[in-house]
This record gives sequence, C-alpha cells and structure tokens, in this order.
Amino acid sequence: MKKNHNLIYLSIILFLSMTGCENNSKSKSVSTDSTSVLKVTVPDAGGFEETINGKAVVLYTLKNKNGAEAAITNYGGRLVSLLVPDRNQKLVDVVLGYDSLKSYRKKGEPYFGAIIGRYGNRIAKGRFVLEGKPYQLQVNDGTNTLHGGFDGFFGQVWTAKQSDKQTLELSYFSKDKEAGYPGNLTVKVTYKLTDDNALRISYSAVTDKTTIINLTNHAYFNLNGAGNETITDHLLTIDADTYTPVDKTLIPTGKIEKVSGTPFDFTKPTLIGERINAKNEQLEYGKGYDHNFVLRAGTGLRKAATVVSPKTGIAMEVLTEEPGIQFYSGNFLTGKDQDGKGKVTYGHRSAFCLETQHFPDAPNQPSFPATVLQPENEYKTVTVYQFSVVK
Ligand code: BGC
Repeated sequence: MKKNHNLIYLSIILFLSMTGCENNSKSKSVSTDSTSVLKVTVPDAGGFEETINGKAVVLYTLKNKNGAEAAITNYGGRLVSLLVPDRNQKLVDVVLGYDSLKSYRKKGEPYFGAIIGRYGNRIAKGRFVLEGKPYQLQVNDGTNTLHGGFDGFFGQVWTAKQSDKQTLELSYFSKDKEAGYPGNLTVKVTYKLTDDNALRISYSAVTDKTTIINLTNHAYFNLNGAGNETITDHLLTIDADTYTPVDKTLIPTGKIEKVSGTPFDFTKPTLIGERINAKNEQLEYGKGYDHNFVLRAGTGLRKAATVVSPKTGIAMEVLTEEPGIQFYSGNFLTGKDQDGKGKVTYGHRSAFCLETQHFPDAPNQPSFPATVLQPENEYKTVTVYQFSVVK
C-alpha cells in the first residue's frame, strides 16, 4: 500500500477514535494496543490426516521468506490459517477455521476458507434454463441453492500437489449432473503465497458440455486475529458505486442501485459497524451486510476492496478480475460454535467475507454478466488478497 494511503488511513482512524462515531454496542473502541491480540494456534497437520471416499486428506503449509504462512487442506481446498505480520512484526492468524478435519465435517459453519463452486452464492429456487433445457439444483438454503448445493466443492476432496514451498495446486473433477449441474468439469485452483505477503488464487476450468460456473473462496477474515470478538471496528473501502439489492430470500431483485446516500456507500474508508444497524430494508434482509457490490468497470486484475484493522495495523487489499464482490459481515455466525482454532468461539460478526464473484443468480438474470461456460472456452480468473501494515 502506498505511503499517502497510510497517512489517510491513520488520520481517519484517529478522527474516528476521537469522535467515537461507531454505533454498534458490541464493538470495541479503537485501540493501537496489540497486546490483546489472541495467541496464534496453528492447527496440527495430524488432525487433518484421514481418508474420505478413498482419497487422502492432508494439511499443506506454504511459507514465504518473510515468515508469512498459509495452511490449506485439500478437503474443500480450504484455507485453514493465514499468518501475516502486524505493525509490530508479530504474526497474526487472520482467518477463522477449525483445528481438525473432524470439526470441519460436523454441522457448523460449512464454508470456512473453502473453494466455492460450481456456482458461488445463490440461484433462485435452484433452477435455471440453459440452451432451452431446464435444470434443477440441490436446494440447500431455504428455497434456494447456495454455494453449489449440498454437494458443492467445499465438501469435496481435491487432488493436491505442492509444487514448491509457496505454491499449492489443487484440482477436482466434477462429474456431469453432480449437484444437478450439466457437463463434466475439470477445475484447477492454485494458491500462491508470494514474498510480498499476498495470497494469490488462480482459478481455471474446462467443461465438455455447456454449463454455468462462478468460483470463489469463502475465507472468513478478522484482521484483529481469528477469535477476536468483532470486525465492526475494521475500516472498509469497496471500489463500487452500485450494488445489487436483494429480496427477503437474498436473491437479487435484478436492479442495480447506487450506493451513494445509503449504508452501502464504502467508496471511502468507513467503519464496518458505523451503519450496520441502521434502519434499512436491505440490511434487515441480510441481518447486516450480505450483498453483491458491482465493481467499477475495468479490465484485468484491479483493486476491489481494502480493509484495515486499526488495532493490529493489518491492511488487506483485495484485487480481482471478477465484476462483483460479496461483502458478508458474518451475520449468521452465532457464537454457539465452540470448536474454533485454540478452542475459541466465533461470535456474531466476528469475521467478514469478501468473496469475488459474478453476480448471484446471474443464470436467471439476463442483465447480469453471463456465467455460461462453453466447451470451446476456458474459464480463468484470479483474485489476490494482499497484506501490508499501516503504522
Ligand atoms: C452468503 C451468506 C451466507 C454466507 C455463509 C455468503 O456468501 O451470501 O448469505 O450466510 O455466505 O454461508
């Protein structure tokens, strides 16, 4: 992150801490004291060694020359931990997860750190029509399909190859009609932890029949450290002037609305908690933020969002080639889950997700960018989570 950005953030942080303008009663006051950051407990690889449907599950570790570290399991291609330095060079684990495969497989939050596919986010009633043929997917979220359905990629065992200390290559073969989707799909996802503390995720896929596809990663971040109480004290910027409002079941209405003058305006660094409890129908439907933001038009990899923790100084920039980003403020985390890493509980709004994506329900919304993949084409997209610190 550039120096002048650091200065802008610091001034904003100081201003906000002086005015105390956050209105969420649960949030902590802004503090530069990092001593309250929880102890980092990195899961033991032994807790992940198991065979599921004849396929071995393993926990892989990527390390860069600065000591940053990412642990990834081939069960769902999940990012289990991500250690990055705070402003005091202390490593902080910034993603929520579990210590063992057993906890990932029990009923709890199903998507922690996972690769999401074949279709990220919701498809209304699990139905769509492709080349004149109707398809019915698994309905796993009220009346809709969410994150691929019950048999989504988050619960599959991927084939893994650690090509070097900093790179893990995952692949998965999704059979024709798996979870209801047409076409045999070969998917590849590569995680690379770069020396400048970025986690680069490259996705590609090919199919033998026309299908739909929308891949993403579902990391739950807390830049104060996983297990800390809230993310409402983080400053968020999203490079989006518009968003896609939803109905009660969180399916986009099809409209694209301006964020300006609404609690969805994150065009300037704003505390996540500042307007999260405002009286607003969209926030009521999502129980907080759970919306697709339409990123400013552009080509190639470009900045989509920035999040800063005033407490640890950790800043995360999200860059993507995708047209949208789902900002989810952890509204459905309940605090009942006692299995968090190091036996911590993950409470309401103790993490946020920034899932780069095509828009939810695009197969049923002709005005949204298309998500159709033809056999003669290759699906390819890159997303980068870039870490740095503000002093
Ligand atoms: C969805 C939320 C959902 C969360 C976890 C997000 O991508 O938009 O509605 O609760 O994932 O499942």
